[in-house]
Amino acid sequence: MGKNKSKGSLPHREAYLRMNFLHQASNFMTSECSQVPEARELSRHYNSVMKTVARRLVLRLDCSIKRGICKACHTSLATGDCSSVRVQGKRRTHVVVTCKTCGAIRRYRATLEKASDRPVST
Ligand SMILES: [Zn+2]
Repeated sequence: MGKNKSKGSLPHREAYLRMNFLHQASNFMTSECSQVPEARELSRHYNSVMKTVARRLVLRLDCSIKRGICKACHTSLATGDCSSVRVQGKRRTHVVVTCKTCGAIRRYRATLEKASDRPVST
């Protein structure tokens, strides 16, 4: 009964591959913004398509990818010229990321990195 799943199979593998390609293409276009003026718009389009694919198939994007994209205009926030990041600690310490394209603000709780999560230096 049921589906015969092999150990290495991944449901929606094609969708994950497509989203990976779109993420990499978006990052590349963001890095080319200074030379090619249309690259930023193309980067936004790639991010928008990636989020649409994830939403339609109910797939979760990784936290780092999700936080690197503006929720309002789909601009990649990874580089410093697209966003400003500041840490505020009035009530609870949190990180405020402001998109310089549309002005949207996102707040995340700042958590300390656990010592077990850090890479071991040699
Ligand atoms: Zn934005």
